[in-house]
Amino acid sequence: MISKLPLPEYEYAMPKPDADLVRKSIVYKLIFILGVDPRDATPQQWLNAAIFAARDLVTESFLKTRRSHEDHGKRTVYYLSMEFLMGRSFVNSLINEGVYDAFNEAFSQLGLDFADVCEQEDDPGLGNGGLGRLAACFLDSLATLRIPAVGYGIRYQYGMFKQEIVDGQQIEKPDLWLDNDMQWQFARPHKRYPVYFGGRMHVNGNVKHWEPAEQITALAYDEVIPGYGGQIANPLRLWTAHAGDAFDLANFNQGDYFAAMREQTSNENISRVLYPNDSTEIGRELRLKQEYFLVSASIQDILARHKCRFPNIRTLADTVAIHLNDTHPVLAIPELMRILIDEEGLSWEEAWSISCRVFSYTNHTLMSEALETWPVDLMGRLLPRHLDIIFEINEHFLDALRAIGKNDGDFIRRVSIIDEEHGRRVRMAWLAVVGSHKVNGVAKIHSDLMKTSIFADFAHIFPDRFTNVTNGVTPRRWIAVANRPLSQFLDENLGGQDWRLHLDHLSGLNKLADDPEVQAGFAEVKQANKQRLADYIEKELGISVNPQALFDVQIKRIHEYKRQALNVMHIVDRYNKILENPDADWQPRVFIFAGKAASAYYMAKKIIRLINDVAKVINNDQRIRNLIKVVFIPNYSVSLAQMIIPAADLSEQISLAGTEASGTGNMKFALNGALTIGTLDGANVEILEHVGEENIFIFGNTVEQVEAIRREGYDPISYLEADSDLRRVVKQITTGHFSPQEPNRYNDVMQAYGDYYQLMADFRSYIEAQERADRHYRDTAKWRRSALINIANMGYFSSDRSIQDYCRNIWYIDPISEAELPGDDE
Ligand SMILES: *Cc1c(COP(=O)(O)O)cnc(C)c1O
Repeated sequence: MISKLPLPEYEYAMPKPDADLVRKSIVYKLIFILGVDPRDATPQQWLNAAIFAARDLVTESFLKTRRSHEDHGKRTVYYLSMEFLMGRSFVNSLINEGVYDAFNEAFSQLGLDFADVCEQEDDPGLGNGGLGRLAACFLDSLATLRIPAVGYGIRYQYGMFKQEIVDGQQIEKPDLWLDNDMQWQFARPHKRYPVYFGGRMHVNGNVKHWEPAEQITALAYDEVIPGYGGQIANPLRLWTAHAGDAFDLANFNQGDYFAAMREQTSNENISRVLYPNDSTEIGRELRLKQEYFLVSASIQDILARHKCRFPNIRTLADTVAIHLNDTHPVLAIPELMRILIDEEGLSWEEAWSISCRVFSYTNHTLMSEALETWPVDLMGRLLPRHLDIIFEINEHFLDALRAIGKNDGDFIRRVSIIDEEHGRRVRMAWLAVVGSHKVNGVAKIHSDLMKTSIFADFAHIFPDRFTNVTNGVTPRRWIAVANRPLSQFLDENLGGQDWRLHLDHLSGLNKLADDPEVQAGFAEVKQANKQRLADYIEKELGISVNPQALFDVQIKRIHEYKRQALNVMHIVDRYNKILENPDADWQPRVFIFAGKAASAYYMAKKIIRLINDVAKVINNDQRIRNLIKVVFIPNYSVSLAQMIIPAADLSEQISLAGTEASGTGNMKFALNGALTIGTLDGANVEILEHVGEENIFIFGNTVEQVEAIRREGYDPISYLEADSDLRRVVKQITTGHFSPQEPNRYNDVMQAYGDYYQLMADFRSYIEAQERADRHYRDTAKWRRSALINIANMGYFSSDRSIQDYCRNIWYIDPISEAELPGDDE
C-alpha cells in the first residue's frame, strides 16, 4: 500500500501535452524504452513508442484513482467475468484522455501516417462475443462515471482464434496476441496468490480441513481502463497461471524432480486458452479449473484489499459488491464461504449473511443447453471442500423451504441446487440465485421471461430478488472512436461534445430530422463510411461492391438461433426473383456477413460455408448485374465491428423470438444510424419503443406465438407446402444449386432438428419486411429521417445508463466526487 504522504511530494506534474511535447515523448520512448533508432523504426515500433507515451497520461489518473479509493474507503464493485472483449486500446485512450488531436498532429510532424500506425495494434480477443464485449463497455462506463470498480478476468495466452476462410470454410488459427507487446498492462509480480486443487477432506468433529493435492500460483497483470474525461482510471486485473513456487508435493518429496516439473508445465495450462463457446455447453475439466482459478485469486485479492483498508472482515458487505457475469464465476460464492469460515473463523450464519449481501448475478441466456452444470463427481475430485459447502448451502435452502411448508417432493427436486436426475450435477445458475441478493436479466423481455421460465420457481420463493438492467454500449468506443465523421456531425448539430457523457442529449436531433441540410450532412457521413468499407472489401477480398447500394449487414457469432440461414434464404429468394423479372426496378444491395463459429459447432460452420457458396454463385452471375453482392468478411473482431457498423444501412437482428437475451450489436447499429430489421426479441423490443414503429422493420412470430407453435407441434413442411417461393429456395439449397460439386452438402442445414428455430415459419414475414425496407430506402429523405430518428432516440442504450441502474438498484454504490480526487496542485 502506498504510504500516506501527500501526493504532491511524489507528483511529477505532467502538463496537458500539446503536439510538440507528444512528439518528443514518443521519440524518447522509441529510443530509450525500445532501443530503436528513429531512422529504422517500423510502424509497429512507432505504435509501441506512442502507446508508452499515452500510457504515462493514463497512469497518472490511475494512481490518483487508487489513492482516492484508499483514502476514502469507498464501497467498490468487483466485476468478475471469464471474458473481456476489449478491442484495441490506443485510440480509445487518446480520446478518453482528450489527446487524440495532439497525437495525430505529432505523427504528422514526424511524417508518418497516423491511421497506419494505429492499425498496427493487436485486438486482444479475450472473449467470444456479446458477453465479453458487454463487460468491456461496462468497464468504460464505470471509469467514466467515477465508480470505484475493479474488473477481474483471465489473461489467456491464446484468446479467441483467428478465423481464416479457405474454400469457403472456416479455419481456426491461434491468436498470438502476447507476441507483440502488451504495453497497456503492468505486471504485478508481487500480487500472487496460491490456488489449490484436489486432495481430500479431513473431518474432526465440527472442524473440517481441506488438504489439497496441487497448488498453482495466480499472478496479476493490471490493464489500465481510462474513463472519458481523463480523471479516473480503473484496473482490469487479469490473472495468469504460473508454476512459480508450486510443486506437486508428492513427486517432489519422492525426489522425482522431473515429474514435479512436468506437473508444473501442465498447471500453467489453466490460463492457456479461452474456451470458444458462446451459448453452447462445454463440460470440460480444464474449464472448471479455469473458473475456480479466476474466482479464488480474485476473492483472495478482494479480501486482501479489504483488510488493508478496514480492521474487520465482518464489515465486508458494507464496502464490497461482487458481480457475477453469468454463472462462470459462481464458485466465488462457496470460495468466499470457505475463506470466511475455514480461515477467518466466522460461523456459517455470519458468513452466509455477508455472502448474500455481497453477491449479485446477471443471467445471460434462457437456452437450457447453455445453462452450466457440473458433475458432482468432478467437482468433488477437484474441489472437495467447495462441493461440501454447496451441499450445505443446498441443505439450508431446502430446510428453509420445508420449514414454511413447501415440501412437495417435485418442487424440492426442481429447485435443489443438485440435479439428481442427470447423473447428479451441480446447477450453477441455481447456486447463483440462492447465493445472490439480486439477479438480473439483460433486457426487459428477457428479465420477464426469466421469471416465467427457467427461474419460475425461484421467482415465487424470492419475489424481490429478480430485476432487469437493460444492456447498453459505450458511446465513446461505438461513436467517438468507431465513427469520427459522425462524431463531428453530432458535435456540430448538437452544439457541443457532451453527448459523449450524456447520450440522451442525442434527442436534440429529433427536431432536426426533417431538415434537408442536416439530412444531407448525415448522408455524407454515411457515404464516407460506406466508401471506407468498400475499399477494405476490395483490398482484402478482391470483391468490388457498389458504395451506393443498400448495405445490409449481419455481423455476430454464427449460431443457429441467430438465424444467419434465414438471411441467406432471403438472398436466394431475391436472386430468383431478379432472374425471373430482370427489368423490374430492383434496389441494389450488398449483403455483408461476419462472425465466428465455435470450432466444434458443426452446423454453424456449415452456415458459414453456405454463405460463401451462395456468394460465389450470385457474385459471379452476370445476369444479376451487381444488383446483389454477398460478402463474408473473415475474422470478426471489435476492430472489424468498428469499421463495418458505421457503414451499415440495415441491421439484421433476426433471432427467433425468445432466444436472444438482449443483443448489443443491435444498439451499436442504431446508434450509428442504421435501421433495424428484426424480430420482437431481446433489446429489439425496447429499441422499437424508443425509435417508433415507422423507423424499424419488425417481423416474425412473437415469443407467445413461437411457444404456441411448439406446444401444438411445429410442422415446417406445412409452410413449405403453402409457399412456392420458400419451397424453391429450400430446394435449391438442399439439392446443390449452390454446391454443384457436392449436391448433398446442405441437405441437413435447412431443416436441422426439425427446424427448431422456425425459419420456415418466419420466412414470409421476413420477405415482406425486406420489401418494406426496399421501398423505404427508395424514398431518400424518408430513410435519412428515420436514420436520424434512430440516432436521436438511442440515448437510453448507453452503457452509462446500464451502470447507473446497477449502482442504484443492485450494488448500492456512489461515484467518487470531485472533492475526493487528489488535485493537481493541492
Ligand atoms: C457487439 C459485439 C458482439 C455482440 O453482437 P450481437 O449482435 O449482440 O450478438 C459480438 N462481437 C463483437 C466483436 C461485438 O463488438
